Amino acid sequence: MLQVNNLTFQYKKQPILKDISFSVKTGEHFSIIGESGSGKSTLLKLLYGTYDLNEGNIFWKDNEILGPKHNLIIGPEYMKYVAQEFDLMPFITVAENIGAYLSNFYPEEKQARTNELLEVVELQAYAHIKVKELSGGQKQRVAIARAIAKQPEVLLLDEPFSHIDNFKKQSLRRSLFKYLKEKKITCIVATHDKDDVLSFSDHMMVLHDAKIMIKGTPQQLYKNPEDKLIASFFGEFNVINGGIIYANQLKIVDTSNLKAVVKKSYYKGYYYLIEADLDGNNVFFEHKKVLKKGLPICLSIYNNL
Ligand code: ADP
Ligand code: MG
Repeated sequence: MLQVNNLTFQYKKQPILKDISFSVKTGEHFSIIGESGSGKSTLLKLLYGTYDLNEGNIFWKDNEILGPKHNLIIGPEYMKYVAQEFDLMPFITVAENIGAYLSNFYPEEKQARTNELLEVVELQAYAHIKVKELSGGQKQRVAIARAIAKQPEVLLLDEPFSHIDNFKKQSLRRSLFKYLKEKKITCIVATHDKDDVLSFSDHMMVLHDAKIMIKGTPQQLYKNPEDKLIASFFGEFNVINGGIIYANQLKIVDTSNLKAVVKKSYYKGYYYLIEADLDGNNVFFEHKKVLKKGLPICLSIYNNL
């Protein structure tokens, strides 16, 4: 398992990460979430041994992961890291990039393996296209395929689908996480997309103010978001009488104490997100139909989580 003990790190004077401790079991999928600038990418880079820690230590099984002071080559052999700014070789093809770390000794096996990886990231049709001719999202898929080519024990993914459009994102996400689970590859994902987490992560943690705000399963954090920051990660929410209430937990009823007036309806496909005024505060709730501006309504809170 991966074990991080009391890690503290600063680029300059200001600590970016303070006293961070967590562990990830072998084969587990673990998500690191937090606002932009909260240190997600820094933490992944530290797990990869890119920088020396100011305090603490990191172990994968019995091996300590050490920074550049102790290593000529950054990155342990059993680990692969797909950076937010993936760096590929632009002048060779997709297939050549993916096969770059595979041995040339068994050309048939190399070919078969490359094909398998092209399938995982759904790029079969692009095998012989030069990487410089690809879109950002396609490049990101090549970077992922290259990282898993030699089956690492641990895969670090930094916002792995951020450049990939919605048409492809859903199926690629399912295909990649299924593959990683089947191969029992431990996977740590930095993300700000709840869809990377809810269906696919065994555990998650939230970084805030250089610290771990909370750790848990996605279900635990979704059902009991102890802080507005956590709720905002999962979706639209309200604070009513001090409690965090998701937009889908508020429903219109005939009478109640929560009297509101409709301000605006936003079309969301199978529902409308309604913005209403409740005692001078904006509240949001989901409703099947569009509602007219100015309509008086009564709302009730449902504990449907
Ligand atoms: P996230 O990935 O959560 O958006 P980062 O880890 O990229 O956050 O950044 C965390 C903080 O560290 C930010 O304040 C950022 O400006 C700072 N930072 C990131 N990289 C460097 C660097 N190479 N040198 C100095 N400061 C950095
Ligand atoms: Mg980042």
